[in-house]
Amino acid sequence: MRNIYDLSADELVDMLAGWGEPSYRARQIWEWLYRHKVASFDAMTNIPRGIRERLAAETLLGNLEEVSRSVSSDGETLKKLLKLNDGVLIESVLMRYERRRTACLSTQAGCAVGCAFCATGQMGFVRNLTSGEIVEQAIHFARELESEGGRLSNVVLMGMGEPMLNYDAVLTAIRRLNDPHGIGIGQRHITLSTAGVVPGIRRFTAEGLQVRLAVSLHAATDELRDRLVPLNRKWPLADLIAACRYYVERVGRRVTFEWALINGVNDTSEQADALGALLGGLTCHVNLIPLNPTDGFEGRPSDPARVRAFAARLEQLGIPVTVRLRRGIDISAGCGQLRAAHGKSNSKHV
Ligand code: SAH
Ligand code: SF4
Repeated sequence: MRNIYDLSADELVDMLAGWGEPSYRARQIWEWLYRHKVASFDAMTNIPRGIRERLAAETLLGNLEEVSRSVSSDGETLKKLLKLNDGVLIESVLMRYERRRTACLSTQAGCAVGCAFCATGQMGFVRNLTSGEIVEQAIHFARELESEGGRLSNVVLMGMGEPMLNYDAVLTAIRRLNDPHGIGIGQRHITLSTAGVVPGIRRFTAEGLQVRLAVSLHAATDELRDRLVPLNRKWPLADLIAACRYYVERVGRRVTFEWALINGVNDTSEQADALGALLGGLTCHVNLIPLNPTDGFEGRPSDPARVRAFAARLEQLGIPVTVRLRRGIDISAGCGQLRAAHGKSNSKHV
C-alpha cells in the first residue's frame, strides 16, 4: 500500500480525482496531513466518512511506528527508534537548544559507505527511505513539539545513511520540508550532511537551493581518509574540496566540515597543518566533535588537551573552528547507536 506521505500535492489531487472527488478535498486532506499532523484518517473531521474509509483501505497514513524512546539526562535530547512498515528500524533525534528545535533525520536504513568509526556504517546497508519516510520523521517531532506549544525550527540530515546516495528521495523530502504548504522550514534551517559524494555535491549545488551543506571530512590526507571514510578512494580530497569550492561560489554559503576527533589518529599537528593547507581561502567552518566510541571501532575520543591543541592550531592557521560537545552521549545519540544497541541480529533481513 502506498504511504500517503509519499504523494505530492498534485498526486493527491490526481488520486482523489480518480475517485471522482473534487480537488478541494485533496487540499483539505493535505492540511490535515501537514498542518494539523493528524495521526489517523478518522481525525479528518471535515472529510466525508466514505472518503476516509477509502483512504484507510488504500493508503497508509504514515509508515513509522515508535518502538522506543530515550531522553538524555539533561532532558534536551530525545532519541527515537522507529519501525518502518516492513519491520526495518531507523532512528531519529530531536535536540532542544535554547531557541532552536532541531530534528536529526535518517535518509537510509543502515549505510553502504562503511566509515570505520560509525555505528551505522558498521551495520551495513539495509534500504533507502522514501521521501515520505524522511518527511514523516519531521512530522513526528513537529507533532510532539506542537502539542506542547512549541515548533520544529531546524532539520539536519545527519541520522542514519548517506543522503547523496538516496538523492531523489532526499531532494523531494527537502522540498516538502521547505514548502510553506508542507512543513515550512526555511532552506537555511535545513542542513544536508555528506561523507563526500562528489557528483552529489555538484548536483545539489546546481539545484539553486539555500540549504546548508556539511561535509564529514575527518582527515586531511588521502592516506588517512581512505581508511576512515572509504568513499575517499573513489572521490579523493582534491576532488571533494573542489566540489565544496563550487558550492561556496554558486550558493554563496559557507561549508561546514565535520571532524570526529580520534585520539592519536586525526588529532595530530600534521593533520591540523594539512587541514589548514587544504581549506586555505575557502569560506568554511570546522566542527570538532570528540569521537563517540562504538563497539566496532578501536579508536577513542581525543583527550581534552589534544582537542584544545588541535583547535588552537587551526585557529592559528586562520580556520574558523568550534568544539562541540556530543549531545545526548548518555543515550548513545551518536549516528546509528541506538539502532545498533537494539539488536544487530535483524539489521539486514527484517
Ligand atoms: N552519512 C552522512 C550523514 C550521517 S552521519 C555523513 O557521513 O555525513 C552524521 C555525522 O556523524 C557525520 O559527520 C559522521 O561522520 C558523524 N559520526 C558518525 N559516527 C560518529 C562517531 N562515532 N563519533 C562522532 N561522529 C560520528
Ligand atoms: Fe554512512 Fe555517514 Fe556513517 Fe559514514 S558516517 S557510515 S557515510 S552514515
